Amino acid sequence: MIPMPPLPAAGSPPASLAQLFGRGQVDVVDLTATLSEATPVLPLPPEMAAIPPFRLERLAHYDDPAEISLQHAIHTGEHVGTHFDAPRHWWSGRDGEDVAGVPVRRLVAPAVVLDAAEACRRDPDFLLEVEHVRSWQDRHGPLPDGGWLLFRTGWDARSHSQELFLNADREGPHTPGVSPECARWLAEETGIAGFGVETVGTDAGQAFRFDPPFPAHRYLLGTGKYGVTQLQNLALLPATGAVLVVAPLKIAGGSGSPARVLALVPTSAAFG
Ligand code: MN
Repeated sequence: MIPMPPLPAAGSPPASLAQLFGRGQVDVVDLTATLSEATPVLPLPPEMAAIPPFRLERLAHYDDPAEISLQHAIHTGEHVGTHFDAPRHWWSGRDGEDVAGVPVRRLVAPAVVLDAAEACRRDPDFLLEVEHVRSWQDRHGPLPDGGWLLFRTGWDARSHSQELFLNADREGPHTPGVSPECARWLAEETGIAGFGVETVGTDAGQAFRFDPPFPAHRYLLGTGKYGVTQLQNLALLPATGAVLVVAPLKIAGGSGSPARVLALVPTSAAFG
């Protein structure tokens, strides 16, 4: 007689988190750009304070007498590389959370991916509009309450080069972003926790000309939502079903921080 595996009892508890990871049923995808002195930095108009680029300062390299360690000091602006924007980053959110005050429950949350890479290839100034998000929702369901909307533009392929990444000419940078109407709608009419992009900031390259200027910063941070920038590998994520882990440094009074951003993605084995 062939022994039969026991059938799962009706109502048996779901696998624990540890079991899911142990069985290889969760992939961990790194959405973070490597930080180095080559990391692109957004040049700001002369009337604004310049963002210092990332720099490592060597403190010890096993070499001085009696020196047995490797150590650096890190120098960087808060808004460099893959980084997190706290509400307090913008004037409209000045009474909101600093980066240390963001509840961790908000930093581990579902994420959905809206892929506009093809449109952005044709038009680097492509703007996400409400109708694009609505048509995405018609196919994939509602945006996740308390979760992230990740905007795929294909810009991660340019992140090795400041010139390609900023794509600037005399009129300023040409990079995709969000229209003022869509930024206001995402902020006020949806329950998302934040908006993630592959570009150097959550606003379009030409957003300094918009009315109002920098609408993603103004509306999203002004309603207590968050931003994450310079993501990569969004092409590896499903449109829905991933969980994002966003880990900025817990800097008291900080307006943002370089962040490690990871996506937890159920593998096909999880559905077997
Ligand atoms: Mn920023």
